[in-house]
Amino acid sequence: MRLRTCPFQQTVSDTSIPYIPYKNHLQEPLLQPVLASSADVSSINAAEDVACNMCGKVVEKKLMRTHCGVHLRIDTGRIAIDQPCGLCLGDKCAAYLQKTGSGRLQPAICCRLLAPESFATSGEPDPSKGFTFQAAGAERCTPDNPSTNTLLLCPRCHPPQPSGARVMKFRKAVWRDCFQAHWDSAHRDIPMPAATAALLQLSNDEAEWCGVIARGGKVKTTMRKRAAESSQAEGEEENRKKRAPQEESKAAADEGA
Ligand SMILES: [Zn+2]
Ligand SMILES: [Zn+2]
Ligand SMILES: [Zn+2]
Repeated sequence: MRLRTCPFQQTVSDTSIPYIPYKNHLQEPLLQPVLASSADVSSINAAEDVACNMCGKVVEKKLMRTHCGVHLRIDTGRIAIDQPCGLCLGDKCAAYLQKTGSGRLQPAICCRLLAPESFATSGEPDPSKGFTFQAAGAERCTPDNPSTNTLLLCPRCHPPQPSGARVMKFRKAVWRDCFQAHWDSAHRDIPMPAATAALLQLSNDEAEWCGVIARGGKVKTTMRKRAAESSQAEGEEENRKKRAPQEESKAAADEGA
């Protein structure tokens, strides 16, 4: 076949057979794929995905806590409300901690984005239909899920009950990252109990790893190794300390302190 040069210095075939995959003489595709990206695919076939309110990225629902946790850590200046929902960064959601058989309190969040069905038509939140995640997992800072933004029970809003008293199944809770803001607005004149203040301390790893994820990177192997070592060293001891104030018996002790 004879080739000739077009005015744009492109080489074009003089036969009638089009290029495959159907490009014009400028090498531009003539047919656009129906699905342009993997994000498009997931928005079509997975109701388990939502678009982040802040950046528009399509994220799996179960990853939204960490995704928004990174926004809370890195994009603080762009979040105008002082107590945003930890799952969608909105201000019209309601978070609860649910009493369970094990004594461990578990999150239940009436989130407008992740669990719109948890609001009745009257607008009343119904935490029994709320979005949940495992409290223990959310308290661990790992390279892939560095955000430890989880729910805390405010010791002032929910003073411990005398033993034997009935405790409500669902109690209003506060996101850890918003706890200081909650305290400042609701209990400004009272010093925060030391045990509660200690719970709000963030590890250096959390800030560092959130920064890496925000830049679209992967936490490097050496950092992962360090995480594995330190989690082994701290182990159960650390977990017990973190967990303590969320449990009923310990809540009473905190209040006395
Ligand atoms: Zn986002
Ligand atoms: Zn929400
Ligand atoms: Zn409170």
